[in-house]
Amino acid sequence: MPRSKLFTKSFDPHGVYPCPVCRVGKISHIPLMEAMGCDFCHEIFTVNVEQQQIKMPSRQPPLIWRWNGFNWAEAQLEGVELGWGYGLAAASFILLPTTLIGIVAYYFPPTPGDIFTWFPYIWTILTFLSHLSIIIWIFIEVYQIPVAAYLRAMNRWRNRQMER
Ligand SMILES: [Zn+2]
Repeated sequence: MPRSKLFTKSFDPHGVYPCPVCRVGKISHIPLMEAMGCDFCHEIFTVNVEQQQIKMPSRQPPLIWRWNGFNWAEAQLEGVELGWGYGLAAASFILLPTTLIGIVAYYFPPTPGDIFTWFPYIWTILTFLSHLSIIIWIFIEVYQIPVAAYLRAMNRWRNRQMER
């Protein structure tokens, strides 16, 4: 994709575009339908030309991508704005408990020589990891269809390679 173009190109439903789900295939117009399909992961997208958007209706709520002239902007759940506020909330959800426990461990150190001296540090690390995994789990839940579609497509591709 040449990115050095002087003018950004508006979205044309009869053009060919990279697939926003698998990022491997190309999506193009499906004849007789107001929709586009991917030649790799076979996802179907409905088209909204006025808003320069495509929508993946195979999950609820549908995922939406907006064409920004060069590429597909990050996926959004319909009716949900995944703005920086969510990133901030996720970061504080991970960092605040970890910091709190770290501060407690720092100001109330165990008696030296105690066999449990390592405990506050392990606890701090465990708090960090458990909160991090919750955020990763929520992220995968929200975007579960793209991840699943990507894995399915990779499997199909691998099977095709083996048949040759
Ligand atoms: Zn695809």
